[in-house]
Parts: sequence; C-alpha cells; structure tokens
Amino acid sequence: MLWKLDLTKFKSYYLNGLKHISCCDLCGAKINNTDLLGYQLSQALLCQHCINDLPYFDQNVVAGNLLNWPAIYHALPKIHFERLFAVSPYIYPFNHWLAQMKYLGRFELAGLFSTLLCAQWQKMLQTNIIEPVDLVLSVPLHIKKWQIRGYNQAHLIAKDFAEQLSLPYEANLVIRVKNNDSQMGKTGHQRRKNLANAFALQYSLASNVKHILLVDDVVTTGSTASEISKLLKQAGVETVTLVTVCLTLPK
Ligand SMILES: [Zn+2]
Repeated sequence: MLWKLDLTKFKSYYLNGLKHISCCDLCGAKINNTDLLGYQLSQALLCQHCINDLPYFDQNVVAGNLLNWPAIYHALPKIHFERLFAVSPYIYPFNHWLAQMKYLGRFELAGLFSTLLCAQWQKMLQTNIIEPVDLVLSVPLHIKKWQIRGYNQAHLIAKDFAEQLSLPYEANLVIRVKNNDSQMGKTGHQRRKNLANAFALQYSLASNVKHILLVDDVVTTGSTASEISKLLKQAGVETVTLVTVCLTLPK
C-alpha cells in the first residue's frame, strides 16, 4: 500500500507549529498573539509593542481625511476623490515591507496591511462621522503587468480589508485598458496625460452605490486613483474615499 500524505492534517500541523515559533518581524521578540483593536493578525508577524509603535498618521488631527492637511491638499492638485485615508507615511518599516511584498513575494504581508487598515479605519470612525460605504474596489493592474507579476497587491489588500469589515468588494468592475509607461519621474501634468482613458468599467454600477472606498498600496500623486474616481463619478458615484497603506509625503 502506498503511503499517502494527508495534506489537511499536514497543513494544520505546519501552521500550528509556525504559530509557536513566530518571531516579531521588526524586533525578533517571540509572539503569542497580536491584537489590533480587537483584530487578530491571521499570522503573527509583529509583537504588540511594535504594533503600537508603528508610525501611524494621527487621524484625529485631520478629522479622518488627510486632504484636510494643507500640505497634502496642495501637493495633490486636480483630484477627483473627496477623502484620503492612509495608515502611515511611506517610511520604514512600511516602505521595506511593501518592497518585500512586491519583489520577494511576501504575500502574508497583505494580511498585515489589511488588518492595520481595518484597525485604523475603525478607530477613525469612533470620532468621525462619514457616509455609509456601499462598495470597496482596488486599483487594477493592466493584464500584461498582472501576467508578469502574477498578482495585484492592491487587490490582495482590498479583498481582505472588505472581508474583515463585512463590506461588498468587486474585483473586476474597473479594468486597466491602457498599459502605460511607468509613472516614475513624470510631473503631475505628464502623469494625468499618460493616464487619460487608461481605465474602464466592465459593467454598470447599481444606482444605490454612492460612496466607494478605492484601495491601493501606495499613493504618491494620487493621479491613478483620481482617474478611476473620475470614471466612477460619471457612473453616478457621489463620494470616493481613497484608502491606502502608505502615502508619500510632499517634500
Ligand atoms: Zn516587535
């Protein structure tokens, strides 16, 4: 008789084993459980001390909308979204983690990002009143880029974020139809020109969808999210909140 590996048993044994030998990604301390305002990390990646010590934006100072911060508002001209929510500036350890996710395939970090986003979002809602959210979307990749990379970071984060907040998520509503050159090194005007007609809606939106959360991993000039917001507005959406893990701060 052939020996057969019971994959389910093996997986649970392996994952349980991992839980017990987890070390904090930042300080190396042993981790049992990490709690983020009641959210348990699906995989223990950080100790409670490092979780508390991350460089979060203070949402209360800006009333839950980073566009209320004059330097940010002036750095993102001609945008079509109403609200901007980010967990942290694009600095250590977030820049380091985002690069690891993108170039080393550390997909477990998507779970960390979405949990951090959820926790900060819920915390912001404790002191700020905003319109009810009807739908969550993510910034799409062009199919060619997706084929090369194999995944879309924004989708991985958004899907998990929506699930944790019990909000509807649609992965395929917005598609990228133009495979633009990189946005790196381009001015705001060049970026907007480069992005014109880069996105399309694959089907029409329900008429009751008025407030959308658009999720991305990093926002620099906001021009990509703005182009998608413009399209959503034409389809009847009233408010777009851009939700991102990191925001590159103006110099
Ligand atoms: Zn730690």
